[in-house]
Formats: sequence, C-alpha cells, structure tokens
Amino acid sequence: MSKILVEVEDLKTYFPVKSGVFKKVTGHVHAVDGISFKVNEQETFALVGESGCGKSTTGRSILRIIDPTSGKVTFDGNDVLMLSKDEMRKKRKDMQLIFQNPYSSLNPRMTVKKLLEEPLITHFEMTQKEMDEQVLWIMNKVGLSSDQLERYPHQFSGGQRQRISIARAIISKPKFVVADEPVSALDVSIQSQILNLLIELQKELKLTYVFISHDLNVVRHISNSVAVMYLGKIVEKGLTDEIFENPMHPYTQALLSAVPSKDPLKKKNRIILKGDVPSPVNPPKGCSLYLRCDKAMDICKENNPILKTVEGTHETACHLY
Ligand code: SF4
Repeated sequence: MSKILVEVEDLKTYFPVKSGVFKKVTGHVHAVDGISFKVNEQETFALVGESGCGKSTTGRSILRIIDPTSGKVTFDGNDVLMLSKDEMRKKRKDMQLIFQNPYSSLNPRMTVKKLLEEPLITHFEMTQKEMDEQVLWIMNKVGLSSDQLERYPHQFSGGQRQRISIARAIISKPKFVVADEPVSALDVSIQSQILNLLIELQKELKLTYVFISHDLNVVRHISNSVAVMYLGKIVEKGLTDEIFENPMHPYTQALLSAVPSKDPLKKKNRIILKGDVPSPVNPPKGCSLYLRCDKAMDICKENNPILKTVEGTHETACHLY
C-alpha cells in the first residue's frame, strides 16, 4: 500500500474584506472552505476547477506561502501549520512550487546560473564546486545545455523558461512539489513536452505532486487521483479513471461535457450551467451549485451536502447520492 506523504484536513483560507474610510472588516472571502485530501508518495494528486475556485490558494496554503485560517497540513509526519518561520524555511527545500507563468516568475536580471544557484545558497552550505556540479546536473535533467548557463531568461522560449522554473524548484531535491498550472501559459505544442518532463522527473527523482489545472485533458494525462473544486470546496474526489469514466457530481458532469471527445463520431451532449458562480464572500447556506443545477431539489437549498464515499474511493458532495 502506498505511503501518504501529504495529508490536508479541513483546510480553510479566508481573506478579510475591508470597506469604508476606516477599512473595517465587513466579511471574508471563503477562498478555501474546509477541504481534506491525502496525497500518496510518488503519485500525482490533481486539483481541478474553473478560475477562482480556490485551487491555487489551496496549493499556496499547503506550502504556507499563504497562511491558512485553520485546518491541518501534515507533510512527512510534520504538522506544517505548527512549524515556526525558521522551521518552515528549512522545510521549504523539501516542499517546492512551480509557478504558472515562466515569464514573470524568473528575475530578468539574473542569468540561468544565478537563478539556479539561488535556492542552493538559501538551503545548503555548499562550495562553489559543489554548486557548479548540482547546477550542471539539473540543467541536464530538464533538457537544457551547460552553454546556456550565462544567458538571461528573455533569451529563452516559453517552454525553455518553464524548464528553468522546474529546474529551480527541484534543484534542492524536494520530496513534494505543487505545480500550479505549469503548462497553461505555453503553446499547446510545447505543453506535452513539459508534461512528459514532469512525469520523467517524478519517476527518476521519486517526486510527489499536487498538480493544479483547469484543463481536464492535462489532468487526465498526468494524475493518479483528482479532486474537483467549486467555490472553495471539493465537490468530487477519486481515482482519475473513476472521475473521468463515471463523473457523479452535476458540476463535474458539466465540466467534462465541455471536453471534446477523442472519438469524432461520438457526439457529446454539452451541459451548460445557468447563471454565475455565487460570491465567495457570503457563500450560500445550502449547496453552492443550487441556483445553477438543473437537478436541484428542495433539500439542496437549505442543506450543504458533505463529501461522502459512493463507490470504492469515489466520493461526491451531492444530495442525489
Ligand atoms: Fe445539484 Fe442538489 Fe447535487 Fe447541489 S446537491 S449538485 S443542487 S443536486
């Protein structure tokens, strides 16, 4: 049985809404609203959902780039949210983030060599010779060559820049990486190269990923398990095949109905959700999809459905089940 590397329990991250001359707190944005999941060692757990559903805030909260409001995050047996700033700084070499945008995440005034040395200087006490060896090792691993070390980020293509971002994240040999939409800023032709690189690196370096994406095709390609998020909550969770072969929650069904079928002869019935996503400032009392769901019942308006196991490892939060 696989070992659990990361466990997230009832994680909440709320942001205050301030208004008026005195900037009084008048409410809270419930960006992440009580979510729980486990990530097995050397596997990929995907968080999927539309923009604004809370998936990036979840990734940043796990790594404590944002301090969550409450909940528990256990990484490799340690309660991450209880670590002091100093302890967290040391832990960070094992828990890294790959950013969405390789254009803005790399300092344009630093050469690739300096960009790659920076995490080594932060986390280790190494001689220049040891750093040089480590930099050459990672350049080779991400498919870049040593004669590119003195170049600046603007001298690279988008795909190459994302290879540099990946190299920066894994040069410290972390166990766990949150990849936040790592291919969405890239041309479709480059996306699969970067995805395949992430898969190869995972196998070789025994990495564990939380992979954040709005793109269901990408998620299906890379992940072992998936959680679908809507308005700060997980509405469906399970093994990737369970979710894609048998989506249960009306929101997941709508998302999947928008993905073109691989078989051109197989026509899909597109499910269009009516209306807009409700405000995360005052989330509805009942199901957050109530006003948009064509299967809604009276109970859905008043009672918030909790995530429960329906079959095997497949869980959903919907009163239909
Ligand atoms: Fe639709 Fe009700 Fe299920 Fe919510 S709980 S998704 S409103 S059927």
